[in-house]
Amino acid sequence: MIIVCKASANEEKLNKLIAHLNSLGLETHVSIGVMSTVIGLIGDTSKVDIESLEAWDITEKVKRVSEPFKLANRKFHNEPTVIDINGVKIGDKYFSVMAGPCSVESEEQIIACAKSIKAAGGNILRGGAFKPRTSPYAFRGLKEKGLDLLLTAKKETGLPVVSELMSLEHLDLFSDIDIIQIGARNMQNFELLSELGKCGKPILLKRGLANTIEEWLMSAEYIMASGNPNVILCERGIRTFETTTRNTLDISAVPVLRGLTHLPVIIDPSHATGKATLIHPLAKAGVAVGADGLMIEVHPTPEQALCDGAQSITPQKFAEIMSDVKTLCHIEGRIL
Ligand code: PEP
Ligand code: MN
Repeated sequence: MIIVCKASANEEKLNKLIAHLNSLGLETHVSIGVMSTVIGLIGDTSKVDIESLEAWDITEKVKRVSEPFKLANRKFHNEPTVIDINGVKIGDKYFSVMAGPCSVESEEQIIACAKSIKAAGGNILRGGAFKPRTSPYAFRGLKEKGLDLLLTAKKETGLPVVSELMSLEHLDLFSDIDIIQIGARNMQNFELLSELGKCGKPILLKRGLANTIEEWLMSAEYIMASGNPNVILCERGIRTFETTTRNTLDISAVPVLRGLTHLPVIIDPSHATGKATLIHPLAKAGVAVGADGLMIEVHPTPEQALCDGAQSITPQKFAEIMSDVKTLCHIEGRIL
């Protein structure tokens, strides 16, 4: 971190600021120029509050030169994190495909989905029970019953399951759910993230609708800082000016994250595009760009889906996509 001081900064004021920085456990390197004086901070600046330094009257500006996230940072943990979900691994050379309906709707629907996903080679079953919907009048999920049905499908097929948690008051209901999904709308629900850090279960953290990669990694940091290192990041598209797709898939987020973090990253082409016809090409792009997995919405009868039908693909289409995904994984040396 660098502090650029105003030309008006005299020695007394500079010394006061330096003493304050030293009291925060930071060493300083001061270079006095003609127009301004620059203080370089040496040490762990991840807990330094930029705004409080900007409040000093001799401060012109403060600039971070290293990332504010530590536990998620590749610099301090070079080995890629591999998360083991009941024997299904994700990260490094292990590729994983999470698939299933947007919402669990009935026993028949989720069992049919689970069986076809397993048969096609998908290795984790997704299904929403608590649904974040824009309209309070839309179908908001079967809630506890939905989780029970998801667990029935888990028992029937052996597939680990992932489902979205929206409120801490439901956490107890998720004890047998293998991965807790935190949806885009809750990516910055910091209380929720901190509490999930204490639960030890793998967390699938979706990117917020309008969040930067750094903000997303800071949210992962919240979970990790309270004791849970098992975070999987999911790029699910961001809001842009484009309207032909529901969101814009930020495919470059994958290699960008690869350089910044050791955490696994997956791609969700379903929420990124909102269109069933776009899932196949973007699933292939996900493998090619080096993602650690995919999340895809699959429904036995998309036209009857209670949520996200337009982006849901049929089990037949899923099998076709899986065939290409497996071929690409093989070429890339990934294990699926
Ligand atoms: C979902 O996975 O069904 C979902 C609601 O996703 P997102 O939070 O990415 O919108
Ligand atoms: Mn959905």
